[in-house]
Amino acid sequence: MPQATGLPTVVIVGRPNVGKSTLFNAILGQRKSITGDEPGITRDRIIGDAVHFNRPFQLIDTGGIVPEDAEWIPAQILKQARVALDVADQIIFLIDGRTEITSADRDLAQILRRLGKPVTLAVNKIDVAKRESLTTAFFELGFKDVMSVSAEHRLGLEELLDHVTRDFTEVEPVDPEEQAGKLRPIRVSIIGRPNVGKSTLLNAMVGGERAIVSPIAGTTRDSVDEHTIIEGREYVFVDTAGIRRKGKTHLMAEKLSVVMARRNIRMAHIALLVIDATEGPVGSDATIGGYAHEEGRALVICVNKWDLLPENKRKEFEQNIRDEFKFLDYAPIVFLSAKEKKGINSLFRHIATVYENFDKRVSTGELNRFVDMLKLERDRRIFFMTQPSVRPPTFVLFMDRGEPLHFSTERQVINRIRKKFGFDGTPIVLKIKARR
Ligand code: GDP
Ligand code: GDP
Repeated sequence: MPQATGLPTVVIVGRPNVGKSTLFNAILGQRKSITGDEPGITRDRIIGDAVHFNRPFQLIDTGGIVPEDAEWIPAQILKQARVALDVADQIIFLIDGRTEITSADRDLAQILRRLGKPVTLAVNKIDVAKRESLTTAFFELGFKDVMSVSAEHRLGLEELLDHVTRDFTEVEPVDPEEQAGKLRPIRVSIIGRPNVGKSTLLNAMVGGERAIVSPIAGTTRDSVDEHTIIEGREYVFVDTAGIRRKGKTHLMAEKLSVVMARRNIRMAHIALLVIDATEGPVGSDATIGGYAHEEGRALVICVNKWDLLPENKRKEFEQNIRDEFKFLDYAPIVFLSAKEKKGINSLFRHIATVYENFDKRVSTGELNRFVDMLKLERDRRIFFMTQPSVRPPTFVLFMDRGEPLHFSTERQVINRIRKKFGFDGTPIVLKIKARR
């Protein structure tokens, strides 16, 4: 069996008729080509390329290698499928969950255990939703990792693949812009109450005073995005028309700023929450910051007009913010003066770093070493963990049960992830799934 691709290899083994071919086709995402009970069928494919959550691998169905004679003996599989098993990084031992364990299953189990490779026992044809209890009988085969699936109805396949591919290398999906050698522009939204200095900060960041005159009553202006390039990186400031537009009454503006913030955050990767240093953090600052958190966007807290405060107040101010915005504890705080253009470079550096974290992916291998070190409430157990997506970083914990973690436990896990992998400035999303 060639391994020309250099990809990790997953091999499916099992007696005839347990559903290998069905599983093979289900994983490769094609209609089952030739399966069924007709004797003497030939399978058209025994090897294929698959990808699960950005982890590519090569899948081999040994059913296509071992002749399906009436007299099927496990030793045969060793001889015929030897090459496939030799290149296997992961083995899926498939068994029919609707029949008793046969002596052939037992013999095969023993052969596979002796290979010393990671084997996942997949109990197939469990076509019902509540599948856990139906697999317990199969633990006697001596494999630690037992999962139930229905190849035909595509149940439990995601969990099976999450598990089997957990240590495989992830490949970033090719982004057309990145492929063209361009870094993705970082989309930034400047949010905050009226008069905190949003429009002054925008000027300091993009340069040039381009005030947009109040729109004529009854008309709305389309949103205007402005951009700037700093150290080879492009920043897009979303809906700056709203920031530059002036001339509302104060009360109206206060409400508008909240509505606008909510809308603009969705269009951005990173929100800059501007706070007026002379007023300190106030209630609506927290409301606006909360939107960024809820929308899963990265955040940098900008304390503006710092030129009006003595430098020795910094620690105290910082503590104030941490006390008032407990849920935004991951957001870096930058002290600056938009008017005097002080702290602007540092702000750009923070934005670039925070974006990196927002877009950061931890390999499943690293995550599983991390899981081994985590100690949770005594009655909950994490089996493994993956990070299926970024922007924001989203982690899936496969646990004994699918119910959510206790709030404090969830916080604890998130804090441990931060401590271990460093996700400054970005919210982290945790999802819990039951390992079935
Ligand atoms: P293989 O030759 O051992 O790889 O098995 P096949 O994939 O050819 O499947 C054997 C039979 O089992 C076929 O009739 C399939 O339709 C059936 N089968 C496969 N998976 C399932 C399943 O999840 N549930 C049920 N009920 N039948 C299945
Ligand atoms: P916006 O309503 O949030 O867009 O706030 P503006 O940018 O219009 O600023 C409101 C007022 O604060 C203006 O008078 C600015 O000159 C002033 N201002 C903005 N940034 C600073 C700063 O860093 N220091 C000082 N002292 N004043 C500032």
